[in-house]
Amino acid sequence: MSVNGVAFSSNLVPSSKYGIKCPNMMSAKKITIHNTANKASAKNEVKYCRDNNNEVSYHVAVDDIEAIQVVPFNRNAWHCGDGGNGYGNRNTIGIEICYSTGNEDQFNKACKNTIKYVAGLCVQQGIVATKDTIKKHQDWSSKYCPHKILDRGDWNKFQQEIIDEYNRITKKSGSSSASSSSSKSGSSSSSSKGGHYVYFPANQGTWRVYPLNAPSLSAKHSIGSINPPKFGGLTYPVKKDRGGWDYEIETGSYGRVRVYCAPETGAKVSWNGPGNWPNVQ
Ligand SMILES: [Zn+2]
Repeated sequence: MSVNGVAFSSNLVPSSKYGIKCPNMMSAKKITIHNTANKASAKNEVKYCRDNNNEVSYHVAVDDIEAIQVVPFNRNAWHCGDGGNGYGNRNTIGIEICYSTGNEDQFNKACKNTIKYVAGLCVQQGIVATKDTIKKHQDWSSKYCPHKILDRGDWNKFQQEIIDEYNRITKKSGSSSASSSSSKSGSSSSSSKGGHYVYFPANQGTWRVYPLNAPSLSAKHSIGSINPPKFGGLTYPVKKDRGGWDYEIETGSYGRVRVYCAPETGAKVSWNGPGNWPNVQ
């Protein structure tokens, strides 16, 4: 799968290591940017984090070709150096940009991928990208990180590029104007502007739906199902992406529910509005 054009996959820490790597539940409010300060690829960076037993972790590593998740987005990670109850550690998603002491070209590409990926992640998480929500490690503790971006004096520019990309992808579809990304009334709802949609085709049967507080998305917790074949396919705005293809949608029959939207189920995901998909709910 990809997120806003960046290849994305997961190699999550096993739940047996949650106590070390991500002990607390979290509802992410902001994003924290890091540089790895090494030459490892995202694959190797994630493998290292997953395999060791240090109380050091983050959510996603991004390199020149892909973004890989290692900690679930609904759990905290240890990446900000601001303590067990620090705001950064307990409320922000940690993003590591790879190759910061390696090949410049690979690092530059990793930065470009991070801009696109983080903008898409903000949409997924219902986080509005602003100067206040896109943070650097240094904002939470005195650590000189992301070191390479700081060395270049590029932090403000990098932060603004994420915000610009977020504004670009969340602009209402159909608007041809390239300017004015400010909201009309000044009071914009944070997630309804997002271009994140899921489409359930008519030829793949039904999808089970689950209550927001279901302990897991297993059939025994299901409270019913949606029936795309009956309507010739159904399209929903994703109200919240809980990670692992666990999406919240608003249904007429069940209200706000969760549904499992992995590609192998036949569901399709868009980052740029519903396009030509039918029956947008
Ligand atoms: Zn850092």
